[in-house]
Amino acid sequence: MKTKSAKVLEFNSRKLQIKIDYRRCLPAVGNDSNPSCGFACVKACRLYGRNILKIEGNKPVLAVTGQEELNRLDNECLSCEYHCQAMGPGCIDIVVKES
Ligand code: SF4
Ligand code: SF4
Repeated sequence: MKTKSAKVLEFNSRKLQIKIDYRRCLPAVGNDSNPSCGFACVKACRLYGRNILKIEGNKPVLAVTGQEELNRLDNECLSCEYHCQAMGPGCIDIVVKES
């Protein structure tokens, strides 16, 4: 997992490569604790996923560190990407890795 100049959060699960583009993320851009998207990605990860995203500094960040923990916890539900598209600008991009 890495944060490219704090512009993009990129991390991997077993089968997914997940990127959150902070340059388009509403609360990150506006430094807003109450964005119109409602932090839908974090809520979706709590509801459908495994709570591996959290809010910190008005942006979604990883609540889990370590690749083994990510592999174990991420259920690869794609909900964060879907809910950012539905409620926000669609700044989460998930690529399914070829096996
Ligand atoms: S839903 Fe999208 S815009 Fe909103 S906090 Fe998550 S990544 Fe950012
Ligand atoms: S794919 Fe599912 S478990 Fe993984 S970060 Fe997104 S919402 Fe959370």
